[in-house]
Amino acid sequence: MKVIQKINNALAQNQVTFSFEYFPPRTEEGVENLYERMDRMAGLQPLFCDITWGAGGSTADLTLDIAIKMQNMICVESMMHLTCTNMPVDKIDKALDGIKANGIQNVLALRGDPPHGQDKFVQVSGGFSCALDLVKHIRAHYGDYFGITVAGYPEAHPDAITSEEGATEEAYHKDLLYLKEKVDAGADVIITQLFYDTDLFLKFYNDCRQIGITCPIVPGIMPINNYKGFKRMTGFCKTKIPAEVANALEPIKDDDKAVTAYGIHLGTEMCKKILAHGIKNVHIYTLNLDKSAFGILQNLGLVDISKIRRPLPWRPPTNINRAKEDVRPIFWANRPRSYISRTVTWEDFPHGKWGDTRSPAYGAYADYQFLRRRSRNKKIQEEWVVPLNDVKGIYELFANYCAGKIKSHPWSELEGLQPETAKINTKLVEINSKGFLTVNSQPAVNGERSDSPTVGWGGPGGYVYQKAYVEFFCAPEKLDKLVEKVKGLSSVTYIAVSSKGETRANIGPNDVNAVTWGVFPAKEILQPTVVDPVSFMVWKDEAFQTWDAEWGSLYAEDDASKKIIQEVKDKYFLVSLVENDFIGGDCFGFFEDL
Ligand code: FAD
Repeated sequence: MKVIQKINNALAQNQVTFSFEYFPPRTEEGVENLYERMDRMAGLQPLFCDITWGAGGSTADLTLDIAIKMQNMICVESMMHLTCTNMPVDKIDKALDGIKANGIQNVLALRGDPPHGQDKFVQVSGGFSCALDLVKHIRAHYGDYFGITVAGYPEAHPDAITSEEGATEEAYHKDLLYLKEKVDAGADVIITQLFYDTDLFLKFYNDCRQIGITCPIVPGIMPINNYKGFKRMTGFCKTKIPAEVANALEPIKDDDKAVTAYGIHLGTEMCKKILAHGIKNVHIYTLNLDKSAFGILQNLGLVDISKIRRPLPWRPPTNINRAKEDVRPIFWANRPRSYISRTVTWEDFPHGKWGDTRSPAYGAYADYQFLRRRSRNKKIQEEWVVPLNDVKGIYELFANYCAGKIKSHPWSELEGLQPETAKINTKLVEINSKGFLTVNSQPAVNGERSDSPTVGWGGPGGYVYQKAYVEFFCAPEKLDKLVEKVKGLSSVTYIAVSSKGETRANIGPNDVNAVTWGVFPAKEILQPTVVDPVSFMVWKDEAFQTWDAEWGSLYAEDDASKKIIQEVKDKYFLVSLVENDFIGGDCFGFFEDL
């Protein structure tokens, strides 16, 4: 969705919103760490996140890649910066076509700074000389598809600042009129350059309104994280530093911790003043760090973790092509990125009911999916690659995960268990200790409020429901016992399959079962999670492959533990089991005498 639409929606509800800027890190490891941080920060539900375009186009490919991953895998509304420096029109269009094809609708259109070593911006042959031309080009060639943001300068652009006192009134005014031209040409949001004098920003804001700029003007807040960085940035941008800020920093400038704490305090006070003027959006230059951004937002009361609500049980995608998607099979609940990458080529996404869509054609499972991060692999290596004497060792590892003793799981991309699992983890530990090796589960929920911090999702004022679900690997003998027991229980449905494809089930191949649903004011019933036997048969290949791809392969070739893992993989069945009686059924107690 376009950022302008999101801002307008939030304004209609009188909501204060915030957004985060990141820049492309220099190393591969830095990029991985950034994704991890973005993932955590996306949980705070920013309105959007943006990624800068390195000076002189130095990070073009990486910026594109990060923007696409932010939108499609981190599932946060993304805005890509794009500059004219060293960019002939065909390159600009290639970048825009690339993000359009990946469902991104937001661009921050900039002229850009000269590349390192040059002091003046030089128009490249076949390129543009200023952001205004870029805005005009985007509107002319892409119509209304993109939301366009442009840069605004509360103290005037640095080129217009020629003395210590700042820009002359004339230069400042000329800069403002030029900003209006960018908006008149089609920009719909302005994000400002960093500043530390809030009064100057508020003056700029009013001056913009005076000359007829009516679009949202979002203040760019750069928390001070360390003194040297602060001096460098403010020197480069010719930013005015109020005396009280300079005085506060001087005695603590060599104490990074104190500087960060002051930065959080200052950022908070600046935002408070801005919000008090009725401005409802703040944009934080995170510098790829989360502490200061989090501190400021927490001080402002904008991120109360206990009040963060999930729009759906899974993080909904922001890609415009997936905008309507609201139903998914439960099997990938702990592997959302794998699900997204396996469905990336779909043209239609299930909406309303799973069963209404065509039989889905999933893409192949590559055993190295996006964000199979080094840190996660390291954790799996530490926690799971241990000597195993027999299958009991495997049972213990699975049980330890459910007990919270270990945090990683080869079948999960997420860290630790979902909060709702707290309701059943004692039972899960027992089940796993008996050799029912769970890879996915949810407790039964019978009409809890949709704002429940553990099981809630959707908008306010609703009630949510779930059928208890458990999915596990187990030995064929155990499956026999389970099948016998289920015969006497009409409320339990299951489907089981081995790695060779032998199947046992008490449901039909097309029986789709809604296992999570919600009732909300003035809405039809939402049913975001289903058990679908067709998808289960696709998922099972991935689930079985995971024994090797994400666990067994981490052992040395001739390690005896690896053979035990291989035997389990070859012999065991994967079972998906639903207790349909979400009021009185107890599918977890049901394992007691198995
Ligand atoms: P423009 O809007 O083209 O303006 C540049 C200057 O030229 C202004 O002073 C303007 O008044 C003047 N000017 C240009 N054309 C005219 C005209 N026709 N008539 C009158 N005056 C004119 N840089 C990067 O390299 N990568 C980034 O990702 C990046 N992100 C940024 C994000 C934000 C929010 C901001 C505020 C800046 C960012 N920059 C980035 C820095 C930016 O590229 C520089 O400040 C650059 O020097 C100007 O870019 P601009 O888009 O503001 O240029």
